[in-house]
Amino acid sequence: MKNRRAFIKNSLGLAAGLAVAKVGQAGTFLGDAPVSAFQFVQEQLAYAYNALEPAIDAQTMQIHYERHYGTYVKNANEAITAENVQVAHAAAIFKEIDKYSAKLRNNAGGAYNHAYFWKTLRAPKADNKPTGTLAAAIDKTFGSFDKFKEEFTKAATLQFGSGWAWLVLDSGKLKVGGTPNQDNPLMKGVALQGRPLLGLDVWEHAYYLKYQNKRPDYVAGFWSVVNWDEVQKQFSAK
Ligand code: MN
Repeated sequence: MKNRRAFIKNSLGLAAGLAVAKVGQAGTFLGDAPVSAFQFVQEQLAYAYNALEPAIDAQTMQIHYERHYGTYVKNANEAITAENVQVAHAAAIFKEIDKYSAKLRNNAGGAYNHAYFWKTLRAPKADNKPTGTLAAAIDKTFGSFDKFKEEFTKAATLQFGSGWAWLVLDSGKLKVGGTPNQDNPLMKGVALQGRPLLGLDVWEHAYYLKYQNKRPDYVAGFWSVVNWDEVQKQFSAK
C-alpha cells in the first residue's frame, strides 16, 4: 500500500513534469501539444543581448526581455490561474479573448507577442531580405520588397501610442497593419486578423534608450535584424 501510494505520487510528479516540459518547448506558439492547464513560459533568447547591435542595443534588450517580457509572462499566468482558464494553447485564449479580463488580454498578448518577436530577430545581415516563396508573395502583393517596407513602416509609425506593426497571412493573403497595446491579429474582434508572420514592437520601451522619440529610425534599423528564414518558415507552415 505504501509502495502503491509512492508510485502514484511519483507518476503524478512525472506527469506534471512532462506537462511543463511540453509547454516549455519552442513551437508552442500556436500550440501543438494539448495540456490541461496552459501556462506561458519565458522563452529563451537564441542570441545574446548585444547580438542585435547596432539596430537594438544590449541594455534595451536586457531590460525588455527580463523585466517587460518577464512581467507579461508572470502576470498572464497569474490571470490564467485566477480565471481558471482551461485551454491547450495560447491561440485558444485569443480566439475567445472577449471572455477574459483586461489583465489576461494585455499580459497574454504581451507574453505571446514578445516570444514571437524574439524568434523573428537575429544578428544584423547586410542586404537582409526575404527569399523564396515569401519574397515572391511579397512582390506579388505589395509590388516589391521596398514597397512592402514602406507599408510596414507606415503601419509602425502611424500606430498611435503603444502597439505593434504586423505582417500577417489571412486566408492565404499577405496583409500589413497595426494593433494597439498588446493586442495581436489572433484576437477575436481586432481589426487586423490573420496569422502573424512578422511583428514589430513599437512601444517606447522597445527603443527609447537608443532612439528616444525617433520611432522611424528604430524601424529603419529593424530591417537589418529580421530573421527572414524564420518568417519564411512561418509563411510555409500549414
Ligand atoms: Mn515590448
